[in-house]
Amino acid sequence: MNDQPRITMRTVESSQLPPCSRCGQTVAMVANLSQWGRGTAELCHTCDQNRPARAAWLNLLASGKLADADRVTEVDMEQAGQLWAACLMDLLSASPLGLALQQPRADKNLGL
Ligand SMILES: [Zn+2]
Repeated sequence: MNDQPRITMRTVESSQLPPCSRCGQTVAMVANLSQWGRGTAELCHTCDQNRPARAAWLNLLASGKLADADRVTEVDMEQAGQLWAACLMDLLSASPLGLALQQPRADKNLGL
């Protein structure tokens, strides 16, 4: 059995991408996090530029390096895997659903 996370990328026309729920511009990518028990996460060049892990991943996508199967090298794929892993960790840690994984708040107020 393979325990590696399954990563599948699908390229779509930008007209098929939804507007960013934060700024209204077209998102750069929608990540499906269902295999981690989450919904989807939007990645936006504008809103995520101050999140280093996300920005690094988006810059790689924008470079077009991965889109050219004849040009992409094993080193590129290795780098892409590392950048995506870092981006994914950031997405999962920042997801609102991540709150449910944190320890319950102290019950000190229940005695009032
Ligand atoms: Zn945005």
